[in-house]
Amino acid sequence: MKMSPELKRAQENMEPGVITSSGFLGQDTRNLADIIEQDEETLQKLGIDIEEAARILRELLEEGRRGLGEPITVREKYRVQVTEARGFLACPFEDGIFRKTNAEVLHLPSGAAFLFSELSLHLFEKHHFLQGIGSPFRIDPQILKKILS
Ligand SMILES: [Zn+2]
Repeated sequence: MKMSPELKRAQENMEPGVITSSGFLGQDTRNLADIIEQDEETLQKLGIDIEEAARILRELLEEGRRGLGEPITVREKYRVQVTEARGFLACPFEDGIFRKTNAEVLHLPSGAAFLFSELSLHLFEKHHFLQGIGSPFRIDPQILKKILS
């Protein structure tokens, strides 16, 4: 897929040290357009609807907040711990800023675990960007599939 000027600029903002110290691309050497396109294809193959998945993750984040920083059980099948740090992070696509809120989710039936933030949820929902392979906040489609089951 072709890189638009907006995607090029977003990819520059994703480099380590621009918005976050580790950046958003991990060890991924693909360009942003290819990362987004290939992850969209994978999600489609796995039968994951981005809007629906984002809604569920947002609910887990909101319900997890009730733990006030401690892990709590949500809907009997998730262990969720939501932590907040001071300050805000800008979206690399330059369309908003987000609190530094992290949610660690453990899906009890499968043992699948993953970590997402308010910003990574926004990147997923709005930009269909799951982050590069090796990024600590990457939303791995296979793990997401387990979490949603
Ligand atoms: Zn954005």
